[in-house]
Amino acid sequence: MIGVTILGSTGSIGVSTLDVMYRHRDRFRPVALTANTNARGLLEQCLEWRPQYAVLADADAAGPLRDGLRRAAPEVQVLTGADGLQEVAACAGTDYVMAAIVGAAGLLPTLAAARSGKRVLLANKEALVMSGQLFMDAVRENNACLLPVDSEHNALFQCMPPASGDGDGDEDESLQQRGVTRILLTASGGPFRTTPVQELREVTAAQACAHPNWDMGRKISVDSATMMNKGLEVIEACWLFATGTDNVEVVIHPESIIHSLVEYADGSVLAQLGNPDMRTPIAHALAWPQRLEAGVEKLNLFDVAQLNFEKPDPQRVPCLGLARRAFAAGGTGTTLLNAANEVAVDEFLHGRIRFTDIAGVVAQTLDEVDIGPADTLELILEADRRARRHAQAQCRRLA
Ligand code: NAD
Ligand code: MG
Repeated sequence: MIGVTILGSTGSIGVSTLDVMYRHRDRFRPVALTANTNARGLLEQCLEWRPQYAVLADADAAGPLRDGLRRAAPEVQVLTGADGLQEVAACAGTDYVMAAIVGAAGLLPTLAAARSGKRVLLANKEALVMSGQLFMDAVRENNACLLPVDSEHNALFQCMPPASGDGDGDEDESLQQRGVTRILLTASGGPFRTTPVQELREVTAAQACAHPNWDMGRKISVDSATMMNKGLEVIEACWLFATGTDNVEVVIHPESIIHSLVEYADGSVLAQLGNPDMRTPIAHALAWPQRLEAGVEKLNLFDVAQLNFEKPDPQRVPCLGLARRAFAAGGTGTTLLNAANEVAVDEFLHGRIRFTDIAGVVAQTLDEVDIGPADTLELILEADRRARRHAQAQCRRLA
């Protein structure tokens, strides 16, 4: 039995992960299930799954979880806080860690999983965006296995050439040496792909969260609407596949059937296709290098009939350019980008700033907060805090 810790088990990715695991209960067992404040949701999952640990990040909200488990499943141990999350990500019984906490809160436990050499199934792209080099170094130095769950990166992983295996011990051959000329990252374009630009000022959080193809948490839904999600994904691709942003092109593909493509020197372009259902990349990462039935409806090309492609308009989606700029700046540039975006999205979701303010808050943070080296966790966390303070102050002025 493979022991799986799910960081963020009550969220959209967490629930889909449990759905795939349920189909293969003979193979996977949950070691720990975790949530932020949703004690009742976590209790329900624990009563069904009987993990070793239940972790609630918010210790003050853990009452109903403790009471419920004491009565019905006293064998489940309750932990709380950031320490509890890190403990279960690194503990001996955990083989795989699904990193599905949203935002910067996922960094420490995901890093703990990498540092203890686990198989890390990475959905939490913000963790990688904010700590790029440090995180990739932790994976390499501790022989962790990092598998992308983000659908585009999972698609790219599936389309990448195998390591050369020429026996020269050079595992770090560049993409170019392996014959790859370009990465094509597909994007749905989100709910406002065809909304007139002048109307974007007035769109509401509910409209931004109504994604045409994917059913996701609120933060990533807003990121999809601004296309900051694709910006974060360009950065994620650069770290995962050791390349620069110039080699990553974003292609708007409204049907979300092609999840991304890899272009080769000989003119071949390999793509991964499937219905937009996160259980596919989740099952891929759980089973790799094997395959698992995931409960996903088979792709019917006759029903799809047409696949369309558009070039993103930089005027319309300024967040894409901001992400490229932050990555080019190096150091803590992408840490600042991520932190300012998290603050701005939260303010928008609470109705305190406009949709179109989000890009402005991020741009101003990149302009005004110093970018420094990102060599240590302390430097990264300090840059994250500074960017948040700066972005909060801007949002207060805008509100
Ligand atoms: P979600 O909001 O549905 O779930 C987030 C989970 O994280 C919940 O279990 C929540 O309790 C937990 N959480 C939130 N804040 C926390 C905190 N401060 N401390 C501890 N736990 C906390 O989000 P989601 O849509 O499942 O997305 C999760 C991650 O996966 C994000 O990074 C997102 O970008 C990425 N992702 C999601 C999808 C998708 O289809 N939903 C696709 C690709 C990537
Ligand atoms: Mg994605």
